[in-house]
Amino acid sequence: MSDQRVYNFSAGPSMLPLPALERAGAEITDYRGSGMSVMEMSHRSKVFMDIFHETQDKLRRLMSIPDGYHILFLQTGASGQFSAVPLNLIGRTGKADYAVTGNFSGLAYQEAQKYGQISMAADTSDRDHSYIPRQEELKLDKDASYFYYCANNTIYGTEWDYVPETGEVPLVCDMSSNILSMPVDVSKFGVIYAGAQKNMAPAGLTVVIIRDGLQGRELPYTPLMMNYKTMIDKDSMYNTPPCWCIYMLGLTLDWVEANGGVAGMERLKWTRANMLYETLESSRLFQLHGEKGSRSGMNVTFRTGDEALDAKFVQEAAAAGFVNLKGHRKVGGMRASIYNAMPVEGVEKLCDFIQSFDRAN
Ligand SMILES: *Cc1c(COP(=O)(O)O)cnc(C)c1O
Repeated sequence: MSDQRVYNFSAGPSMLPLPALERAGAEITDYRGSGMSVMEMSHRSKVFMDIFHETQDKLRRLMSIPDGYHILFLQTGASGQFSAVPLNLIGRTGKADYAVTGNFSGLAYQEAQKYGQISMAADTSDRDHSYIPRQEELKLDKDASYFYYCANNTIYGTEWDYVPETGEVPLVCDMSSNILSMPVDVSKFGVIYAGAQKNMAPAGLTVVIIRDGLQGRELPYTPLMMNYKTMIDKDSMYNTPPCWCIYMLGLTLDWVEANGGVAGMERLKWTRANMLYETLESSRLFQLHGEKGSRSGMNVTFRTGDEALDAKFVQEAAAAGFVNLKGHRKVGGMRASIYNAMPVEGVEKLCDFIQSFDRAN
């Protein structure tokens, strides 16, 4: 690693794999003899179309996305999907179920109310979103157009360790902060979406994986750019797609593939996370926000209970090369985001730092 690089625990945008960054750097002014940067290419040129389709193919291979599912490369961020999901899917029955287990599912729930009758299938705010509801606690409506949940709660540091069973009701999942960190049975889902800037690519790309047949029922006032059918029919090229981010996603996927695919990512994920959880649990000073059994393998939230001491921790950690550990203002304390690209060594060194801080204070 370059001497200047820090261990960046940012929740997103976040670390990208160094080999992907280095390849982008090497190709930045002349992409493989084309005489131009990927940033300068027409999105309809053969050279870019090859990048585009190879990236789709790699994602399909790595996530074992079955035939009968479309892969879209869109803009407007994961938050754009808070609107796109109800606009496109609620038309079937006018109703939908939402599990609200954190900040982003709460925002999606609020947004969806504009478009239909939305029920809270679960609400974990009673214990400050520190846990994930069990299957038998979900209040399911068999007439819902879809069931919506967020697989990893980036701000609160909890993660679903199961895929809800909803019978015939299509599952919609926000996987922004844990996509590509574990194998997923895509055939269980109607729609999976993710903003790229946590585990995939720079900000500006949103990946949507959608089962064929769910498009084409959008509400009549659905904005053109949010219409799944338009984007499926045009293979995400109704307008200019986020070309550079798609290229970067391809480079990240090459790195994932070279490191054991999503099964390899899952091993690394729990190697990092378990090490950090064990260190924090055996400390004197620190408490974890997420409850046992609900803890995230991607975002580890913790605090001392003393704001001044938390601030001291964040400051001393940054000075030691561990940056962006301050927690989100909704939870306070600290958050270590340890996405795919965070080296295990970065977490080992952070654990050493936590132990010496624990001893010194
Ligand atoms: C970051 C994040 C979002 C918001 O993503 P944007 O691309 O900034 O809109 C939504 N959901 C989850 C789970 C996230 O982690």
